[in-house]
Amino acid sequence: MYLQKKKQIGILAGLFLIAVTVWFFNFQEISGKFLKVKFLDVGQGDAEFIETPDKKQILIDGGPDLSILEKLGKAMPFYDRYIDLVILSHPEADHLNGLIEVLKRYQIGAVITNGVIRETSQYKEFMDTIKAKRIPVYIAKSGGEIDFNENIKMDILYPFENLKGKILSDSNDSSIVAKLIYNNFETIFTGDIEKSAENKLVESKIDLNSDILKIAHHGSKTSTSEQFLKAVNAFVAIIEVGKDNKYGHPHQEVLERLKNLQIFQTGKDGDIEILSDGINYRAAGN
Ligand SMILES: [Zn+2]
Repeated sequence: MYLQKKKQIGILAGLFLIAVTVWFFNFQEISGKFLKVKFLDVGQGDAEFIETPDKKQILIDGGPDLSILEKLGKAMPFYDRYIDLVILSHPEADHLNGLIEVLKRYQIGAVITNGVIRETSQYKEFMDTIKAKRIPVYIAKSGGEIDFNENIKMDILYPFENLKGKILSDSNDSSIVAKLIYNNFETIFTGDIEKSAENKLVESKIDLNSDILKIAHHGSKTSTSEQFLKAVNAFVAIIEVGKDNKYGHPHQEVLERLKNLQIFQTGKDGDIEILSDGINYRAAGN
């Protein structure tokens, strides 16, 4: 099934409406009226947790191992076992593995993938768990839009084609690219796309402009081209990266390309939290 504009949005919105979340305990929380975007320090991999002002929760990727469970335990109240939406940007181990146990331990409203099949035991377990728990799955494609109400939506920018069932031995460049929009505040999530996908996005003339940019592929020099950076024109760059990782991420030349941005790295700064009221935002590591 495609994640297309009208009909499926209704289905997703419906799922959110029936979400049984015990939200009323949270009303005193200071960050209550803010959109919260957390880039979780899960080592060498990606995991991003989003919470809307009315407590809809979205998890993009789950990192390479079980450390995501501890991070979710801190990000969510203990009694809340429901995540509205899980997005797998692409099925590589450092994004997928942690999600398997998340799917098993939490109730999940829906899953969005890029449709690509990876012939690994972890991918199989991920899909088997989705089936066993009867979680609805949608395939992301450019032009798709998820409406979270409260003037918050997520636009799917990439991939341009429906990749359902496509078998790839390296799926990085097929990652879902999505823009989270809350009034005037925008964040772009890029998974592990390479320069080739970045170029396609720039050439497509899609509006890439964004306040916050999740740097693609953990700061690898094979991503984050000058043209892409120019098109996004972000103020803050977030690099999700493991401390002292074997790949040498983030590469020095990427850091140089980012010299005019405020840079956060999960390997250095820990979990990075961004709060926005739809106009202003505050970014901080901990
Ligand atoms: Zn990765």
